[in-house]
Amino acid sequence: MTQVPSWDNARCREMGTVLFFPESRQDTINLLPHIQQICFECPIFDKCLQYALNNRVDGLWAGTDEPTRQTLRKSLNITPRPLVDLGDYFVSQTDEAKAARKKRALLAAETRKQREGLKV
Ligand code: SF4
Repeated sequence: MTQVPSWDNARCREMGTVLFFPESRQDTINLLPHIQQICFECPIFDKCLQYALNNRVDGLWAGTDEPTRQTLRKSLNITPRPLVDLGDYFVSQTDEAKAARKKRALLAAETRKQREGLKV
């Protein structure tokens, strides 16, 4: 039986989330080719793309931005699940998605702390 890689195998895991949540459309355009180089060699690319298509995520997932995901969802007839606002972060309604979203939220919080630590 083939083992499905877990989110722990994500190539972006140690990179923080700043790269994956650009603040403007121009930042997205500038970052996307670099993100795609990372994502296209990620061992959980398929899982990540499926998750990003099935859920209303923000940012760059599996080398896609939201306009690309909208196009893919339309052609694959996928309706994304809404995420649930839990205050500090959003989660979708499945346990796996909840765990993945929580991990990303924790990474985002760590990155924010690191950025704040750099401000003098
Ligand atoms: S495919 Fe998904 S999990 Fe892998 S590096 Fe890209 S964003 Fe991270």
